[in-house]
Parts: sequence; structure tokens; C-alpha cells
Amino acid sequence: MRVRIRGRDQRSEQEKHGQEDPSQGETRAAGDPVDVADEMYEATAVPAAEPIEAPEALEAPEVSEASEVPAADRPAPVPAAERGVHQARVWTDVPEPDGSQGDAYVPRPVPRVMAVANQKGGVGKTTTAVNLGAGLAEIGFRVLVIDLDPQGNATTGLGIDARSFELSMYDVVMRDTKLEDAIEPTSMKNLFVAPATIDLAGAEIELVPTFSRELKLRRALESVIPDFDYILIDCPPSLGLITVNGLAAADEVLVPIQCEYYALEGLGQLLRNVHLVQSNLNEKLEVTTIVLTMYDARTKLAEQVAEEVRTHFGNKVCRNVIPRTVRISEAPSFGQPITAFDPSSRGAIAYRELAKEVSGGAS
Ligand code: ADP
Ligand code: MG
Repeated sequence: MRVRIRGRDQRSEQEKHGQEDPSQGETRAAGDPVDVADEMYEATAVPAAEPIEAPEALEAPEVSEASEVPAADRPAPVPAAERGVHQARVWTDVPEPDGSQGDAYVPRPVPRVMAVANQKGGVGKTTTAVNLGAGLAEIGFRVLVIDLDPQGNATTGLGIDARSFELSMYDVVMRDTKLEDAIEPTSMKNLFVAPATIDLAGAEIELVPTFSRELKLRRALESVIPDFDYILIDCPPSLGLITVNGLAAADEVLVPIQCEYYALEGLGQLLRNVHLVQSNLNEKLEVTTIVLTMYDARTKLAEQVAEEVRTHFGNKVCRNVIPRTVRISEAPSFGQPITAFDPSSRGAIAYRELAKEVSGGAS
């Protein structure tokens, strides 16, 4: 079965008139299944005792333009290594590395459903979902990027204008619209996107009283999985219900980690939440893939972050790191993945190599 991409005028009568599926009005009764999201909110609400708080030493030095203190009066920055940037306590919740499988990343067989998650914003989730997706499509895999972020950056980054589609992930999650009806082709062969708009922000709240609120995406995804080799779910920068939907629908979690200050902050919280989803909603879920992003080879810190992440996550960490390049950050405004925007740039090569590594090569 192949995905049908519907035209604008093919919506069902029911959708056109805004009628809703009767099941949508269902509300949760006391004692409904697992309240994973509730547990997560609780977990999020106790920052004081948080063992994975960023150690002071992870704080970025002041940026000179933003600072009102004359440069001469500011204390000289202490090198990261001397400040004990990567203290063991950051990793109290992180499992010990599993050295048993050697140090090379081991690709899983397709179809693969991967949630690209990290509750921090700006770490390269969307950039990785879009460009890894494009790299995989170039190899010949059929790839679907699901935009679960109300910012819709994966949507626009793949050249889809919000005015050009009528059904989005909001409809899929809140109105039980079929996912296949929301899928749009991109300018790249084999690469599709299920778009998001700002409406999706409302779903975070509107989902709260609905039945099976954590499993909306998983149910919607079932029918399209056979159509794709890779489904990459671009999660928003939070651990709310939308992200829980992404995690509950995936088999694997891909965590982009920015090789920068604060890189490790919050990672323990993410892993705890993955564990919560795994034990309550989706036992297959596993963090399988760590991608180091925005790597600046000129800084010692990037190297230290990369080393520390490898020590703890072993062969889950992809050997190919993504460099920080201006071209990567320019590509989204042209609605193109870097592999199409500037095919021979360092960023394009890095994402292409990453796609080979993650997939094991040929399709
Ligand atoms: P997230 O989805 O985690 O919030 P994004 O992928 O949107 O993060 O990236 C945040 C910002 O950093 C964007 O402006 C993006 O263009 C830029 N960016 C991401 N990866 C790189 C990179 N490797 N080099 C330079 N800029 C990058
Ligand atoms: Mg994003």
C-alpha cells in the first residue's frame, strides 16, 4: 500500500463541515489507564531536588555584547576542564555504558519509527529530523517527517507553506483525521512531511481531558507504517502531552545533543521520561541513537562534551558528528534540506554520512 496524497478538494464532507468524530468528545474517567503525562508533570515540578541540574560550571560565560560590565572588570573565564564541567553527578540517572556491543553504531532493520526528542530548544532536533530525513531519502528510503512542534519548523524547512495544506497534525491528533490524509510530498523524492501549524499548541491543553490522550499519534501512525522505511517524529521542546504522544508512537528515540554549554542539562529528565513511557505505554521504546550537533572543532568544550557523551552512551552515539555551519542554518529559509540547498557543503556531507551510518547504507 502506498500513501495517498489528497488534493485540497478531496476532504470528506464531515471534515469540511467541521464535524467531529463522536469519540472525540469522550472524556477521561477517574481511574483511566496510566497517567504518564501527569507523572511527568509532577516530575517536572520538583526542580529543587533535581540531581541533573546543570552544575554551575556548565554556565556559559557572559557574551560581551550583551554585557554591561566592562570586559576588563569581568573575571577571566575559567577553562571548562578546571571547573569540572562534566562532573559525575550530571550522570546520576544515566545508565552505565554498555560496552558489550563494541563501539560502532548498530542500525536496526526498517521500518523504523524514531522520535527526535530533547526537551531543550535549539539543540538541532528539527534540523536533524529534516536533514537526516533528506539524507535517508537520497539513499532511497521512503521517509516521513512528522512535525509535532507547533512552531512548524520542519514543515517550513521542507518547503511546505502553511497556506498550501488544509490538514495538519492538529487534525490528526485532535480530530482523528487519518494521518495519510495530512501527508504532503516535498520537493525531494521519497521525502514526505506531515505538517504542523501553530494550532498544535492548543492540542497540548485540549488533549488533557480526552480519552487515550497519550496514544493519539500511535493509533494514527499504525496505518502508515507499512508505507515508509523511516518515520522521524520531530518533537517540541517540552515534555508535555505532545512529546508523550511522540514517544508513545515511536520504537526508538533519537536524541540530538548540542556540543555546547548546558549540553547535558536535562538529559536525565528526558531519560527518566523515556523510561516512564516505556514502562507504562510503550515497552518497545528505547534510546538508540544520539547525534552530536553543532560541533565546533575549534573549541575544547565541544570535544569534551562529545567525549563525555560517548563514555556514557557508548555505541548509541553516532560516529558522524554534525558541524556547526552557517549553510545549515540558512537552508530552512529556502525551504530546503541542506543536502538540496548546498549539496557539497560540509553540513550536507555530514548529514549524508549520518544517514548512511544510521541506516547502515543502501536501502
Ligand atoms: P530544535 O528543533 O532542537 O529547537 P533547531 O534544529 O531548530 O533546534 O536548531 C536551532 C537553530 O540552530 C536553528 O536556527 C538552526 O538553523 C540552527 N542550527 C541547527 N543545527 C545547526 C548546525 N549544525 N550549524 C549551524 N546552525 C544550526
Ligand atoms: Mg524544533
